[in-house]
Amino acid sequence: MRLILLGPPGVGKGTQAKILVGRLGIPQLSTGDILRGAIAQKTAMGLAAKEIMDRGDLVSDDIVVGIVSERLDAPDCKPGFILDGFPRTVPQADALGKMLEQKGLRLDAVVAITAEEGTLVARVAKRANETGGARADDNAEVARKRLEVYRELTEPLIAYYKGKGLLKTVDGMAPVDDVTAAIVHALGA
Ligand code: AMP
Repeated sequence: MRLILLGPPGVGKGTQAKILVGRLGIPQLSTGDILRGAIAQKTAMGLAAKEIMDRGDLVSDDIVVGIVSERLDAPDCKPGFILDGFPRTVPQADALGKMLEQKGLRLDAVVAITAEEGTLVARVAKRANETGGARADDNAEVARKRLEVYRELTEPLIAYYKGKGLLKTVDGMAPVDDVTAAIVHALGA
């Protein structure tokens, strides 16, 4: 199963992706996690990405497309994968389409997890508390910026994938287990 989880920051994509890894037996591919790993290791890419991520902007399409292309070639992605946080722009989605075509692969579904905007900034603030501020971009000001970026650059992907007949929509306001059940149901998995 090759899957994209789409949705605004704080909606629970990462939480659901981690649960689905166990359920579906395929890896989570989080560009945010990979970028944070690069920052922790102080690689050139990490150093370049840190400032951009800390202010809530998007890292360049070229960088994340490169990350994903490389990651998809790893053996654990053979049975499928869950893309979490990628694509985030229409050019990234176009690049993903081309990349998969070249690899002879097809997407099975794009699950859009939705939530009322007002709850999202609060959720991100809650995550900041729970993780002791482990993520430099988890504070109210940056959360609002990330929501703006989502609305402008990422939300158009909902129509993009709807047009391709791949979109499933799930209510992310429900309890975590119910959201998982709704995703599994939507996938017919
Ligand atoms: P996330 O963990 O998905 O919330 O991502 C955290 C931050 O990493 C984002 O706010 C961006 O700065 C960067 N990032 C993650 N994925 C992407 C992507 N697909 N395109 C551009 N920037 C990304």
